[in-house]
Amino acid sequence: MTESLTGTVALITGASSGIGQATARTLAAAGASVAVLARRVDRLTALADELRARGATALVLEADITDPRQAQAAVEHTVAQLGRLDTLVNNAGTMHAGPVADAPAEEWERMVAVNVNGVLHMTRAALPHLVRAAQDSPRQVADLVTISSTAGRVARAGTAVYSLTKFGVTAFSESLRQELQPQRVRVGVVEPGTVDTELASHQRDGVREAIQRQIQDIEMLRPQDIADAVAYIVTRECRVAVNEMLVRAAEQTW
Ligand code: NDP
Repeated sequence: MTESLTGTVALITGASSGIGQATARTLAAAGASVAVLARRVDRLTALADELRARGATALVLEADITDPRQAQAAVEHTVAQLGRLDTLVNNAGTMHAGPVADAPAEEWERMVAVNVNGVLHMTRAALPHLVRAAQDSPRQVADLVTISSTAGRVARAGTAVYSLTKFGVTAFSESLRQELQPQRVRVGVVEPGTVDTELASHQRDGVREAIQRQIQDIEMLRPQDIADAVAYIVTRECRVAVNEMLVRAAEQTW
């Protein structure tokens, strides 16, 4: 059965585009007040205006999650403005593909900073509020969902460091699931296949074309497909915990 999110507050990182933006729209439509976080504040403001025009409550959080102080401040601002935090969606992420031997170290550092450290900073800041929300919510549960990847289940040539980060957040989530289960904070990962977003556009010349060739013959997932997976997880009754969802494009072989 699907539970309404009315009266709950969800914070979505990376809400200025792609999967995060679709997730913010979907959770708001399910009744949640949403705090939308990213660095591109103009995009967040446009999204918040759109959501408010539909009757939702939306809070803009301009923050870089690689900075622990900004992550902490974003969470505290959310709780101060919206009163609580029931759901954290760790969605912000970046991918730089290409063989290890050719890769600039800055690309590796960027992926570790956003995909790993960003998830850790946001999670640490949110945890006490999620635990509190699970205690005092009529839903009797709170949710922490992290967007991993098929690359977090299967490592392939060309995405070694991206896979390292996504295997990492999946392992972190499983450990955290066990720790938080007694406090009724559900922890889950969504593992998307290839989704039509801005992610692939951030590649170096040469790598971008290689990715385009790989995906040219398949119909990619849409951001809404992954937003639907997140919504499914967080709208389950408290007796149900969906801890992992793998969602591939149907024609995707990897
Ligand atoms: P997009 O590039 O469209 O979105 C990435 C989001 O992350 C943007 O909103 C960006 O906002 C935000 N972001 C990046 N760095 C930071 C930062 N330092 N601080 C705060 N926000 C940041 O990509 P997707 O929507 O595709 O990606 C969302 C998630 O899905 C990622 O974790 C990605 O790894 C994962 N994923 C994507 C797949 C795909 O095929 N697209 C497949 C599997 C997983 P801004 O630049 O404004 O800060």
